Amino acid sequence: MNNLIRPNIRNLQAYSSARSEFEGNTSVALDANENPFGNGVNRYPDPLQRALKARIGQLKGVGPAELLIGNGSDGIIDLLMRCCCVPGTDEIIITPPTYGMYAVLAQINDVRCTAVPLNTDFSLNVDAILASVNPNTKMIILCSPNNPTGNLLAVEDIGMILNHFNGIVLLDEAYVDFSPDASWVPRRKDFPNLVVCQTLSKAWGMAGLRLGIAIADPEWIAVLNSMKPPYNVNQLSQERSLALLEDESLFRERLDYLLCERKRLLTKLQELDIVLVVFPSDANFLLVKFEKPDVVYRCLSEQGIIVRNRSREPLCEGCLRITVGLQSENDALLNALQNMKP
Ligand SMILES: *Cc1c(COP(=O)(O)O)cnc(C)c1O
Repeated sequence: MNNLIRPNIRNLQAYSSARSEFEGNTSVALDANENPFGNGVNRYPDPLQRALKARIGQLKGVGPAELLIGNGSDGIIDLLMRCCCVPGTDEIIITPPTYGMYAVLAQINDVRCTAVPLNTDFSLNVDAILASVNPNTKMIILCSPNNPTGNLLAVEDIGMILNHFNGIVLLDEAYVDFSPDASWVPRRKDFPNLVVCQTLSKAWGMAGLRLGIAIADPEWIAVLNSMKPPYNVNQLSQERSLALLEDESLFRERLDYLLCERKRLLTKLQELDIVLVVFPSDANFLLVKFEKPDVVYRCLSEQGIIVRNRSREPLCEGCLRITVGLQSENDALLNALQNMKP
């Protein structure tokens, strides 16, 4: 593990915030130069988000020491990249078509990003990935279910990479709630270099709060904690998410609704003449192939319906990515498509 951490991070003298030095109940807090007039947000938030981690840990079946909360998943991916990759020297591997932020974050951090495309059936090309590893390869980022293709990556393929690569495997499970029992979190103890990244933005419906979650070996979490901005999750996000995480039955109900709608939307889309292929999905969106994706995209947007045009991505020629919405929204989409000429 130590060889994977940049020397400057290994030797980091972390900032110790006023609020993290003092434990217990404060009655007179004169340590942080806060404004004493109470307005609900005048105090700095808990830098370790203890209450939130207790609840998330309970929901995910992990301990708080295995959890890091970030300002969105992007904040976590960026942190991990800065932890492991020396700018100008080190490299990561990604498997396009996949989430665009990986390459952008690599570019921002001056980390070389090697792309090993998925196979045409959207499975991992394990041999090519392992053949692309060199001594500077510090991280492989995998996304399962993958965005924008929607499929889960095969357990055996992820296992092969975990077993044959000595660096960090960052497994982005942003959509895993839509695919029950698919998470690698229960197996985390077998793979100390596995970092699983999840989010409250999708199935939990809190995109506006910006809460990403890393689940990893406590030693990794400790290093990432030493690097993160001390107050990286604001008070309102901590409070609001905690309240929303309370109602697990509402979460299940809405998840079931979206899974039903995903199935219905898939069936209805397949019946349309202008649709060439609807790819099966383990996430909350469908990748749909059209003869003329740009025309369909424009026509939909003229009617106020916005989808994601992925037709210029490798292996996604002709494809639009469509999020599963409310029944009424999905009907509006289906209606609009029905009225288009092939
Ligand atoms: C939406 C998404 C995320 C979530 O990002 P947040 O910053 O947590 O909102 C992460 N990874 C992938 C692949 C996504 O599609």
